[in-house]
Amino acid sequence: MSMFNHIQAAPADPILGLGEAFKAESRAEKINLGIGVYKDANGQTPIVKAVKEAETRLLADEKTKNYLTIDGIADFNTQTQALLFGEGADVIKQGRAKTAQSLGGTGALRIAAEFIKRQTNAQKVWISTPTWPNHNAIFNAVGINIKEYRYYNKETKALDWDNLLADLNQAGKGDVVLFHGCCHNPTGIDPTPEQWKTLAKMSAEKGWLPLFDFAYQGFANGLEEDAYGLRTFVQNHAEVLVASSYSKNFGLYNERVGAFTLVAENAEVANNAFSQVKSIIRVLYSNPSSHGASAVATVLADPQLKASWIDELAEMRNRIKEMRAKFVQLLKEKGATQNFDFIIAQNGMFSFSGLTPEQVDRLKDEFAIYAVRSGRINVAGITNDNIDALCEAIVKVL
Ligand code: PMP
Repeated sequence: MSMFNHIQAAPADPILGLGEAFKAESRAEKINLGIGVYKDANGQTPIVKAVKEAETRLLADEKTKNYLTIDGIADFNTQTQALLFGEGADVIKQGRAKTAQSLGGTGALRIAAEFIKRQTNAQKVWISTPTWPNHNAIFNAVGINIKEYRYYNKETKALDWDNLLADLNQAGKGDVVLFHGCCHNPTGIDPTPEQWKTLAKMSAEKGWLPLFDFAYQGFANGLEEDAYGLRTFVQNHAEVLVASSYSKNFGLYNERVGAFTLVAENAEVANNAFSQVKSIIRVLYSNPSSHGASAVATVLADPQLKASWIDELAEMRNRIKEMRAKFVQLLKEKGATQNFDFIIAQNGMFSFSGLTPEQVDRLKDEFAIYAVRSGRINVAGITNDNIDALCEAIVKVL
């Protein structure tokens, strides 16, 4: 008797599956606006210069391949906290924050989900709709009840603020509420500073446990600016969880570098809770790998390399902003009657373009242009070389 023969094929991941289909696409003029990977003006995803230099140094200086500790590289974790909360922030000085290196942002989210499930009394996690599909999958995997809060208004192509508040008003004491630190995926729409303040106040009054998914720090307006929401919450809360990713802002996609951070009321509570986080990691993958996080720690510890990284991050951010403006302008010039101005104000790599699933299908079938069926496009996939063809095709399917 086979134990396997009955198993049905799993559906392809909607986003990663798109990448595979794009690879197999034979039309030379193909354009990939699917997966959220940064591309430069030449359509390449280059290695960040400071990372390359750090790697050269690491290769020369490395003396052992001995295991890391369960929570990973201490300098990396310290640097992560400085990026999240600001250099010398009170929460750091007070020993209230504890960080474990993780396998990308996904790994950090999984640690968060396991920690919430095993160590807290939280019964529900509130997730924006729409969101990055893996959020639902991760919390389902650990068996936590998911509730949705509305986030996007299709008519105004903006934050659905009133309905967001109405839904989150239902979130009770001890519920986890998941926020995207910045560059909301898939909409590209973030709360304003005033709205962050309102949410932080509401969260403190209602007694939520906020969980920040921070996968794009530096891609909206800058490293410090993008942490505004998180830092506002930390000022108002004794307890916060954060999942960081270095995939995008350090371009370390395939090195799997991220971090899980917990903030507790005091150092003692933080240490106790963190000991449980380490138990969770021990069972999941024992301890993390060294290379990518060592590169991040090396860059952040060296003022010159850090400055070079910050410049390159600004370059990435500004290129995307430029492409947004040009895209909107060119759509107008090519005859789009619909107004696409909302795309300019969106943050990060993604734009919820307003294209329907049928229009996305036509873009693929007729023009070899690949996007997610929800209408999400990766603006970083647009270059000066493909923007004309792209806009002409979109105008044809509108
Ligand atoms: N959260 C969000 C919102 C993301 O978009 C992503 C990456 N697509 C992640 C987390 C996970 O990133 P990583 O590749 O570091 O696991």
